[in-house]
Amino acid sequence: MKRVYMDHAATTYVDPRVVQEMLPYFTEHFGNASSLHFFGREAKEALEHSREIVAKALGASPDEIYFTSGGTESDNLAIKGVMYTNKIKNHIITSIIEHHAVLETCNYLQEQGFEVTYLPVDKQGFVSLNHLEDSVTEKTGLVTIMQANNEIGTIEPIKEIGKITKENGIYLHTDAVQSFGKIPTNVNDLNVDLLSISGHKIYGPKGVGVLYIREGVKIEPVQHGGGHERGMRSGTENVPGIVGLAKAVEIFQVEMEKESERLTDLRDKLIKGVLEIEDSWLNGHPTKRLPNNANFSFDRLEGESLILRLDAKGIAASTGSACSSGSKAPSHVLTAIGLTPEQANGSLRLTLGKRNTEEDVDFVLEVLPEIILDLRKLSAV
Ligand SMILES: *Cc1c(COP(=O)(O)O)cnc(C)c1O
Repeated sequence: MKRVYMDHAATTYVDPRVVQEMLPYFTEHFGNASSLHFFGREAKEALEHSREIVAKALGASPDEIYFTSGGTESDNLAIKGVMYTNKIKNHIITSIIEHHAVLETCNYLQEQGFEVTYLPVDKQGFVSLNHLEDSVTEKTGLVTIMQANNEIGTIEPIKEIGKITKENGIYLHTDAVQSFGKIPTNVNDLNVDLLSISGHKIYGPKGVGVLYIREGVKIEPVQHGGGHERGMRSGTENVPGIVGLAKAVEIFQVEMEKESERLTDLRDKLIKGVLEIEDSWLNGHPTKRLPNNANFSFDRLEGESLILRLDAKGIAASTGSACSSGSKAPSHVLTAIGLTPEQANGSLRLTLGKRNTEEDVDFVLEVLPEIILDLRKLSAV
């Protein structure tokens, strides 16, 4: 059966060039990067070379790069690490459309007695700069707003947010897990102090990520132990994973510009085609969105049934985020942009990737209208 994978926001395959780069670090260069002997030095060298590659991609310096176990850990370390250092500035500002890794961390800190402001977003998913400015108090220690949303693809005005945080002496963290490798993520252009990355959203391996921490930021570790990563993140470094993540970065630095253009064209063809279906609309902004993201809602339709029917045709898609599908609760992002729970549950997210072709888009456009017509007939009975 022909399989079309259009769920790249949930995870990507690992680029075969990344796998090739990683393999020797399992079997030959397997040393512990903390060991003094040849094997350890070899691992350490690979680790530091990888750090340089990631630093360069972000416009950062290598000592501002910390390897973690993924996006979730990077978000936790950024938010808890900064907030735990400062007992006076105990106020966090975030948005209601953040990934659960950020939202749940903020909820947890709120239970611990920290103050959290959850900024609303407009109908296209944008945080308002005025709202943000109005929420700043003398106690605000951290603003954490994602660079691009994982469900609706909206790209937030991080640079402008960064001007406000800078003026007020507040740290700015951004979750760049979805945007890194698709749009520019230079930490100085973005005015950010902390930035999270994950390997498995950029054609690298799962279980590895990065937290960028600007030099001078006051932060304490969350995980204690042998003092790896300059004391910021103890635990023997996942050298094969880190080497793989760095290779994935090296690849996209060469290919990103062209690939993002190609994806944008495919995305726009997909959007144009799907919107020909009756009572359908696009969620998010038509152009200020990730090049690979298309998110739709359909009246009188149940998203989960749609996903299963698409899957039966070989098309892998998602409704809401991977974390919230599986539960019946409507997506917090879609309800935040003003959809009713029914409308939110009738949504479809298609996220394109490197292996998707125009033929794949045509296939979806051929199959989708029939399925929707059929499901609507059934639900009308
Ligand atoms: C996937 C994702 C994460 C979590 O990253 P993991 O490496 O899976 O822990 C965090 N934030 C966003 C926006 C994501 O899309």
